[in-house]
Amino acid sequence: MIKKNDIIICVIVAIFCIFSAALIFSLRGTPAKVIISQDNTILHKVSLYENREIKLPHNTVVIENGVVFISEADCKNQICVNTPKISKDGEQIICLPNRVIVEVSE
Ligand SMILES: [Zn+2]
Repeated sequence: MIKKNDIIICVIVAIFCIFSAALIFSLRGTPAKVIISQDNTILHKVSLYENREIKLPHNTVVIENGVVFISEADCKNQICVNTPKISKDGEQIICLPNRVIVEVSE
């Protein structure tokens, strides 16, 4: 025996599921990209969610579990190496001496 109330509860649960799925989807947004450029030229454009190490002539960029950082650099000030890990849209790590910019972009 299926009661009328059971159907209503099922419908409410179904609507709730669809809404929460839509919410999670919109919060995640489009997959973020990591853009690595030097002298205003884009050298690499890769996914933020693919773990990898990118070796540039003067810097080593590491993408690990959705965050990006510069693990090694031959610049004198080491500001880029000491910059906190970035993960959000618009955040940047800049190595001025090597003119390298690592940026997270949607
Ligand atoms: Zn640097």
